[in-house]
Amino acid sequence: MELTEDIIRLQREVEAFARERLGGSGVERDREGVFWRDGWTACGEAGILGIPVPTACGGRGAGLLATIVAMETLGRNVDDLGLLFALNAHLWAGVIPIVRFGSETQRRRWLPTLLDGRSVAGHGATEPDAGSDVFSMTTSARRDGEDWILDGTKSFVANGPVADVLIVYATTDPALGEAGIASFLVPRETPGLSCSPPLDKAGLRSAPSGTVSMEGCRIPADGLLAKPGDGAACFNCSMEWERGAILAMHVGRMEKQLDDAIRFARERRQFGRPIGAFQSVANRIVDMKIRIETSRPLVHRIGRLKDEGRQAMMEAAIAKLHVSEAAVQSSLDAVQIMGSRGYLREGLVERDLRDALGARIYSGTNEMQRVLVARLLGLPSSLPARGPGDRPA
Ligand SMILES: Cc1cc2nc3c(=O)[nH]c(=O)nc-3n(C[C@H](O)[C@H](O)[C@H](O)COP(=O)(O)OP(=O)(O)OC[C@H]3O[C@@H](n4cnc5c(N)ncnc54)[C@H](O)[C@@H]3O)c2cc1C
Repeated sequence: MELTEDIIRLQREVEAFARERLGGSGVERDREGVFWRDGWTACGEAGILGIPVPTACGGRGAGLLATIVAMETLGRNVDDLGLLFALNAHLWAGVIPIVRFGSETQRRRWLPTLLDGRSVAGHGATEPDAGSDVFSMTTSARRDGEDWILDGTKSFVANGPVADVLIVYATTDPALGEAGIASFLVPRETPGLSCSPPLDKAGLRSAPSGTVSMEGCRIPADGLLAKPGDGAACFNCSMEWERGAILAMHVGRMEKQLDDAIRFARERRQFGRPIGAFQSVANRIVDMKIRIETSRPLVHRIGRLKDEGRQAMMEAAIAKLHVSEAAVQSSLDAVQIMGSRGYLREGLVERDLRDALGARIYSGTNEMQRVLVARLLGLPSSLPARGPGDRPA
């Protein structure tokens, strides 16, 4: 389906911005695991962080499809995928839940600096013993007068080490399962909150992830984002948007890999001819192209559905699964086509592979996307119910 004039204009704007302000390979940041603060600030100044946010909340009101196209464009033109991952975690796990579940006061307090690049957001749902089974979380929220007290540990929190505010999911009553989950806005300076140094991840290394501990964190009543019973909806809303949009950067990255692979296969000569003349090399390139053409419509579809106010749970799960597997396979192909050069760190494709592997795990593992699709297709669930409000997977 054709993109609108407005979206094409945005696409050109984002491409020009990326070339001008987000150039450079970022190999050092990847090696050292360093967050690109200047890149982040530039994104804030250029209005990238406000693209999907309604104008009434201070954003650009461009919608999800426009944002997906913008992310695809960034993925194609920016080598530091860690920065783009951090940006997506901020938007889908932080900003959008505040837009959709926040009160007027919460929006006024947090959105201005989250949109202009002065602040960073993230969310804590996963725990050491609650990964795929996320709603079995044990981080507790109990009332103390008007306040809430949070205790627990959240693992693998994207942006955790640099975040100014975290959306923390906690249970107010484990016996209620999903129906007992609430979410809270927890400012970084909250007494009792601490975050580990960045975890030593295989990929997406310039997007710092950390373990967040909360010991008796006192949150005033106006820090409650989604009340008990609405926390799971807040989390699922965040995941539905994220699964579509975060994968868009990998579609862009696959386009860049394809261009590079074609150039390389034309220029590199062996046995007196360009390696692209060998069918086993050409076939890899053709497969890379097919993966892009099957991935792009899936992520665009989620944008269109959400912009029409429709559900996209099934579509988001399918897109997440398909695009992440495609990104891993195309990165493997790109490494192989480039031979020993593809195996070098400065060659960038080995980093693409490490970055893409994360996509099979974050936003719910690909195995869990299959479980979710099976449930949405009406198949019996393999998962136990944990409380009266539980919807398996
Ligand atoms: C780069 C990255 C960023 C992340 N960012 C965040 C973040 O910002 N906030 C946050 O809260 N979390 C974050 N996570 C954590 C992520 O959500 C979890 O890693 C994920 O949900 C899986 O949990 P787990 O790692 O504990 O694996 P487990 O749940 O222990 O799973 C281990 C294996 O068992 C499989 N498995 C488990 N249950 C089933 C089942 N029922 N059927 C079939 N297979 C199953 C899984 O698919 C997986 O292969 C991030 C992870 C990564 C890699």
